[in-house]
Amino acid sequence: MPPSSPICSFALSLPVYQLFDYELDGDTKYAAGTRFKLPFGRGEKLGILVSCNKQQLFEYKNIKTVVKPLDDDPILSTHLMQLASWLADYYCQPLGEVLFQFLPRLARKTEVMPETRVQFWSLNTVDDELLLSFKSKAPRQYDILCALKQSDNGLDALQLRQVHDSWHQPVKVLQDKGLVTKGWRENLPVAAETGQPGFELTVDQQKICDEISPHLNLFLVHLIHGVTGSGKTEVYLELMEQVIRQGKQVIYLVPEIGLTPQLLRRLQSRLGQSVVSSHSAMTGLQRYQSWDQFKRGVAQVIIGTRSALFSESSNLGLIIIDEEHDSSFRQQDGVRYHARDVAIKRSQMLDIPIVLGSATPSLESLFNVQKTHFRLYRLDQRVGQSKPPQIELLDCSQIPLNTGCSPKLLQSIKEHLAAQGQVLLFLNRRGFAPVVMCHECGWQSTCYQCDARMTLHQSVNKLICHHCGFSVMLPHKCPDCGTREIRHYGVGTQQLEEFLKSQFPGIDVIRIDRDSIKSAKHFEARMQPVRDAKPCILVGTQMLAKGHDYPHITLVGMLDSDQALYSSFYRASERLIQTVLQVSGRAGRAEKKGQALLQTAFPTHPLMLNLCRQSYSELVEDILQERKMVGFPPFARVVTFQVDAIELALALQKLNEVKQYLSEIDSGSTVKVIGPIPALMTRRVGRYRAQLSILANETHSIRVVLQQLMPKIQAIRNTQKSRLTIEVDPLDL
Ligand code: ADP
Ligand code: ZN
Ligand code: ZN
Repeated sequence: MPPSSPICSFALSLPVYQLFDYELDGDTKYAAGTRFKLPFGRGEKLGILVSCNKQQLFEYKNIKTVVKPLDDDPILSTHLMQLASWLADYYCQPLGEVLFQFLPRLARKTEVMPETRVQFWSLNTVDDELLLSFKSKAPRQYDILCALKQSDNGLDALQLRQVHDSWHQPVKVLQDKGLVTKGWRENLPVAAETGQPGFELTVDQQKICDEISPHLNLFLVHLIHGVTGSGKTEVYLELMEQVIRQGKQVIYLVPEIGLTPQLLRRLQSRLGQSVVSSHSAMTGLQRYQSWDQFKRGVAQVIIGTRSALFSESSNLGLIIIDEEHDSSFRQQDGVRYHARDVAIKRSQMLDIPIVLGSATPSLESLFNVQKTHFRLYRLDQRVGQSKPPQIELLDCSQIPLNTGCSPKLLQSIKEHLAAQGQVLLFLNRRGFAPVVMCHECGWQSTCYQCDARMTLHQSVNKLICHHCGFSVMLPHKCPDCGTREIRHYGVGTQQLEEFLKSQFPGIDVIRIDRDSIKSAKHFEARMQPVRDAKPCILVGTQMLAKGHDYPHITLVGMLDSDQALYSSFYRASERLIQTVLQVSGRAGRAEKKGQALLQTAFPTHPLMLNLCRQSYSELVEDILQERKMVGFPPFARVVTFQVDAIELALALQKLNEVKQYLSEIDSGSTVKVIGPIPALMTRRVGRYRAQLSILANETHSIRVVLQQLMPKIQAIRNTQKSRLTIEVDPLDL
């Protein structure tokens, strides 16, 4: 006999494609998206209810029973459950892992969620006579009554503790007497100033707002291509205000927010205190608080990185993605998805607009404009007088460099500092030196668990692998031949910093990279001379290229961009162009004219020449033509299967199984298969990696293949020995 109680399916946070069935004790109905504590193996796990009253196709043996959920209400709305299933299906990721990705970290445990509001106590009307009567007979109660009387909106526990260490008891007595009332208040970030008026929009900004505003109630993808400093953020702000006025909420995604408190302040001061943020530098509790305040509609805007996209809202009116080209929107581990593309899907499901913005839009987005899927708006001028600097090449093919710098670059730095300007030097390589070798026998410092060199970090006298974090002391003698001829080659940011300090004594040299910056506070403190408009030199990696607005930088120098010219990464030239334009765009934001110098040993390379002569649109058009010719994205859709295993042969063997399944599928030969081949960096963190890719000209062909392939692939078990991961629309091939 089948059990009479309903059978429910749950998603668990496990890297498997199946759901888990349990019997529900009692006949209360629960909505999908509700959290349950489930008995699992010998322990317990959190499960999210996916469906109830499942039709029983067979009789269960020893099915486990669950009694009641953890929370009264579902934690995920029907809409987010649908978005999660779309994501799981489109990106071929296990539904359980996707659903857990949607939850704030704090909600992924089998615990009840904390209260994010703060308790406070306030005074009911008490006349002075009554108040005075407390003075002698109950002095503690009297102190508390006085403090409450003086406060504007009552006092919370922290504030009451300042009145009296043992405030609990007297407050309780006052409450019982009906003189004091307990309440809850929101713990929202307080903006220094609120409701600041915006700028009067420029003609170009106004035009964009006028074109988008009439369509705020329907799904459309708007792409704003605006040079750095052209006032895109001001356009977002204007649109956000309109949406908030309609009583709706906004999700605003950025690549980086922990290090750019300016932006949060700008939003808070313009839109009031209804802006909360969410990023990885925040604690789990802080992030949950933002999530909860946004969910309850107490905050109208949430600004954050990638995962803020999954913020719950019953009233979402707009999604904004700034720097939409940025690769940080792609999650590269765990659940593999692209936040921009999922955001577009979410907007479509809710029939609301989405605004993408960038000075260097992705080729995917520009291609979507060509196909009329996206609407394009342009801001070609900076606000005010300044212009993005023209890029100049510094030919260093024939001249020796001094710690990565050509004499001309050093001369320019000197001139800009003398003219009270600030200098930004971009070198995307942290550490002291990337190569350590024996001059005698050629020994190199390679990582014992990766196919990679270890970087010298001289401050700690260690060799560190940037891929797995493994480190060893710098050897005194060559491990192979025993001589003391160990030398380092190449320049990293640490070495550049030391060199510049010796070249420009008395000038602040500020290094910004992952080793030098430990927190947002630390970053703010380091950047003080930059804000003070003092002549100084900023040295930094990619970390400096993102979204910072420092108006006093007049010179930008890019030291080592040549690697991109001979990289095997097919997006290398696209990335180079984007980085060069983004970094050079940091120069000359205020009245002072900016200069951007690009050092290269290949000054006649067409790409280098074009970088100086052409606009972004022209540069990208060339790349699009190339991609079309070779049939690469955005003209093709790609799915990559990756296996990492304890041996290369095993990785290849697993992928050959996938290839075998593929050959059994009738795809009408519209799908091209590449591989299996060893990955570019085959050995990483001690495991061997190989990959197999499929390409097709249109999404439909890929979907057809995946539909048939996935049931078979789902049967391939992941073990300690080998793990298969799938990437749909990967950034690399
Ligand atoms: P983007 O987001 O394109 O980099 P921002 O919106 O940050 O550009 O604007 C660049 C600078 O110009 C900022 O300092 C901003 O305060 C200023 N700005 C933007 N719009 C206006 C305007 N309409 N009038 C005056 N200043 C403006
Ligand atoms: Zn040697
Ligand atoms: Zn390593």
